[in-house]
Amino acid sequence: MAGTKALLTLENFINGKFVPCSSYIDSYDPSTGEVYCRVPDSGNEEIEAAVEAARAAFPGWSARSPQERSQVLHRLADLLEKSLEDLAQAESRDQGKTVTLARTMDIPRSVQNFRFFASSILHHTSECTHMDHVDCLHYTLRAPVGIAGLISPWNLPLYLLTWKVAPAIAAGNTVIAKPSELTSVTAWMMCKLLETAGVPPGVVNIVFGTGPKVGEALVSHPEVPLISFTGSQPTAERIAQLSAPHCKKLSLELGGKNPAIIFEDANLEECIPTTVRSSFANQGEICLCTSRIFVQKSIYSEFLKKFVAATRMWKVGIPSDPSANMGALISKAHLEKVRSYVKKARAEGARILCGEGVDTLSLPPKNQAGYFMLPTVITDIKDESCCMKEEIFGPVTCVIPFDSEEEVIQRANSVKYGLAATVWSSNVGRVHRVAKKLQSGLVWTNCWLIRELNLPFGGMKSSGIGREGAKDSYEFFTEVKTITIKH
Ligand code: NAD
Repeated sequence: MAGTKALLTLENFINGKFVPCSSYIDSYDPSTGEVYCRVPDSGNEEIEAAVEAARAAFPGWSARSPQERSQVLHRLADLLEKSLEDLAQAESRDQGKTVTLARTMDIPRSVQNFRFFASSILHHTSECTHMDHVDCLHYTLRAPVGIAGLISPWNLPLYLLTWKVAPAIAAGNTVIAKPSELTSVTAWMMCKLLETAGVPPGVVNIVFGTGPKVGEALVSHPEVPLISFTGSQPTAERIAQLSAPHCKKLSLELGGKNPAIIFEDANLEECIPTTVRSSFANQGEICLCTSRIFVQKSIYSEFLKKFVAATRMWKVGIPSDPSANMGALISKAHLEKVRSYVKKARAEGARILCGEGVDTLSLPPKNQAGYFMLPTVITDIKDESCCMKEEIFGPVTCVIPFDSEEEVIQRANSVKYGLAATVWSSNVGRVHRVAKKLQSGLVWTNCWLIRELNLPFGGMKSSGIGREGAKDSYEFFTEVKTITIKH
């Protein structure tokens, strides 16, 4: 194929070796709309090879002590940290996000994921009880499950991949990971560091390609007893169907339609910049992003005016621009989907206060075919509108008024999702009360996205099954056994 040579070409990483593939998928630079990379289009054959490698590596890796595995994870964290700048540049080019965000959030968090599980794996204890009347002692043992299948999305590529790889291998499993076909580069770069970190061949296998082809081959494989998936709800449905005949262990981290509830006693000086960030960070492509902002009527006009002014200051720019708050969306298809929601809202009679179709975006000539869009604020929209019900996963947020606490809780809970919510109020009693009643796996009050990795992360309702965190991930990536000793 003409011009192919200049393109970055990725290879699968199986049994400690890079392996070429017989066919490839084009991968685009979202900031220019040009193909710049070729990603292996793997399938059954590659999954069979990866399963064989992971199966062979399991006895040795799972027999190592947690301390030995922890040291390997620490070395990998150090190596990733040394490559931080290269990884940040690559993540930005592949995903469209700003280099600044990749440098300050994605890659540091990927490093932290390995350090965190390298440490937490050393601190688990098992349970023990006695039944003196029958002279019995009972205790639990945890053992790695086997070969873990890990499937991750395109929005936080290395960050979410390592959030699965680290706890899986720390617990003694071997893994087959499949990153999103849209953002595979940093996973491939990480593979180059595994040998130096001391990860034995076959412990981490990374197989690239599309969901329907290689993703389904992985999910359906009878020797992969566990699937950890982060992505969309429709894909999760398919994965659950394919896993059902094998009774696989499933962790599903899915989408959200996250509300922010802003009471009249909120500190608007903090609330407004944080809510702009919670709506538009990473182009609004974070599962935790706010997309429904409920504002108490008495402060609604003031809030709206200030919020729109602050949104207009949220700069869209080329990803390398250090002053840009937001880069390009992931793909042309996704950009069109996000725009179509704004179009539907307008057709329903909602008002678009800024952004798409209202303001103009100026970009350098080289970036005009890139997938950029202005942050967009919609108001005068009904709760029943698809913009208020469905996950848009882009830089679009709706602002609507409410009267009472009871009413807003009911409206916030009226969607099928239940991932994250934010509550803004200076009344301590109220924030506790509202947080308790919200159907949401995570509630941030007077802040957003402050994460304590020890505690459970995940959603309720259609936002997922299971939780991730120190204890939760350990429990998911191990099988527990209860042993009774009569003495
Ligand atoms: P997606 O479901 O399209 O894809 C996710 C991954 O699944 C990709 O690797 C994809 O190739 C793979 N996949 C697709 N079809 C498959 C199939 N049939 N079998 C096996 N694998 C398949 O999601 P996306 O568009 O990449 O990501 C965006 C979604 O992810 C949003 O809904 C977002 O909210 C969600 N998300 C959730 C969290 C969370 O922690 N809850 C975090 C980030 C993103």
